[in-house]
Amino acid sequence: MKKVAILDTSAIFTGVLNYIPFDVEIYITNSVISEVRDSNSKYRLETALQSGRVKILNPPTSIVKRVLQEGSMLGEIINLSQTDIEVVALALYFYEKGFDVTVFTDDYSVQNLCKRFGIKFTPTKTEGIKKVRKYIYKCPACGYKSKELPPDRKCPICGSELKRRLFNR
Ligand SMILES: [Zn+2]
Repeated sequence: MKKVAILDTSAIFTGVLNYIPFDVEIYITNSVISEVRDSNSKYRLETALQSGRVKILNPPTSIVKRVLQEGSMLGEIINLSQTDIEVVALALYFYEKGFDVTVFTDDYSVQNLCKRFGIKFTPTKTEGIKKVRKYIYKCPACGYKSKELPPDRKCPICGSELKRRLFNR
């Protein structure tokens, strides 16, 4: 079964693009592209579009209408933007063609709607808030510690090569 990933705007922002396996085809809607504002995400997206890694496709209006109706029935319509609706509609389009579809989104209303249609979704935020790691340089021989690595990478006390260690608070 062909695998397809649909990205919403937050998924591009969090850089999930880099984590999707290469056997998965990635699609986004024009509405998502127009919502990407920050320059890092824009650059990432442009590169992915140029290389063909990400393709643009807009859902058929008949499917958009069905998603709108379902959204109203769920009472989610005030929480859903036109972009949200189109993201789900594009996912539904592939899903009904028999593709293995996953929507990458952090929006609860979009997730809710996906659930309603039986479409898989994956939150992306865990990728976005990766902890900032801090390192310390330690001498394995004499135990000397420094936050900075000397240019020669050697311990100023005994001359051994310093090793990098994760800094624990
Ligand atoms: Zn030392």
